[in-house]
Amino acid sequence: MDIPRIFTITESAHRIHNPFTPEKLATLGAALRLEPGTSVLDLGSGSGEMLCTWARDHAISGTGIDKSQLFTEQARLRAEELGVVDHVEFIHGDAAGYVADEKVGVAACVGATWIGGGVAGTINLLGKSLRTGGIILIGEPYWLKLPPTEDVAKACDAGAASDFLTLPRLLASFGGLACDVVEMVLADQDSWDRYEAAKWLTMRRWLDANPDDGFAPEVRARLSSEPERYAAFTREYLGWGVFALMAR
Ligand code: SAH
Repeated sequence: MDIPRIFTITESAHRIHNPFTPEKLATLGAALRLEPGTSVLDLGSGSGEMLCTWARDHAISGTGIDKSQLFTEQARLRAEELGVVDHVEFIHGDAAGYVADEKVGVAACVGATWIGGGVAGTINLLGKSLRTGGIILIGEPYWLKLPPTEDVAKACDAGAASDFLTLPRLLASFGGLACDVVEMVLADQDSWDRYEAAKWLTMRRWLDANPDDGFAPEVRARLSSEPERYAAFTREYLGWGVFALMAR
């Protein structure tokens, strides 16, 4: 079981697989006013940066599940590096349908809401692991400005313009799912650049090291086209944020 290889090539050097900087992740951790000992479940935990740094900075305990073997290994290494191996656990597996044995104080899915079949399904899934009064974290894109055509939406890597809402509509939609929005931290263009532009150097180095790999033509095509595509579309049209929710 694993994710498509293109991600483990382009994001192999990322610690955060989202348009968030370490500073924004720290801002989010502080904003949630985490009590020491809070248990955090993270579906699609990637390379574990959120759980590992929050274990270090806020003494939370955490469980992460991720479908990528590479990212899960990187998460375990990061836990060792930060001295939090006794507080965080990383499971390599499919998080679809995953429910924790013991209820948690924070249940998160940050940039992987397809795991629950969309935002509503993911809130429902996370809710099954959440103790009463706990916080759900959803990381999700939104439109900074509505794409004028479906082609523009697709150029932003959306399946369709209808895949995402504007920020006011996204916030309102959480209310429609019987949730209060109690906090949020948003990406900005600089933090998007950290996510997207970091892929370019990784791709270039991978190409230099693997010129004869069967995947090289695809990576080469991406590296040639991505900077312009990103600047013209994603960077202009797409926002992203992590939203903290509590059941009403
Ligand atoms: N939350 C992490 C990773 C976000 S990227 C961060 O912010 O850094 C999306 C992640 O979802 C990737 O790590 C990918 O491997 C993982 N993923 C995709 N489908 C999954 C599934 N069905 N179950 C578990 N993880 C999945």
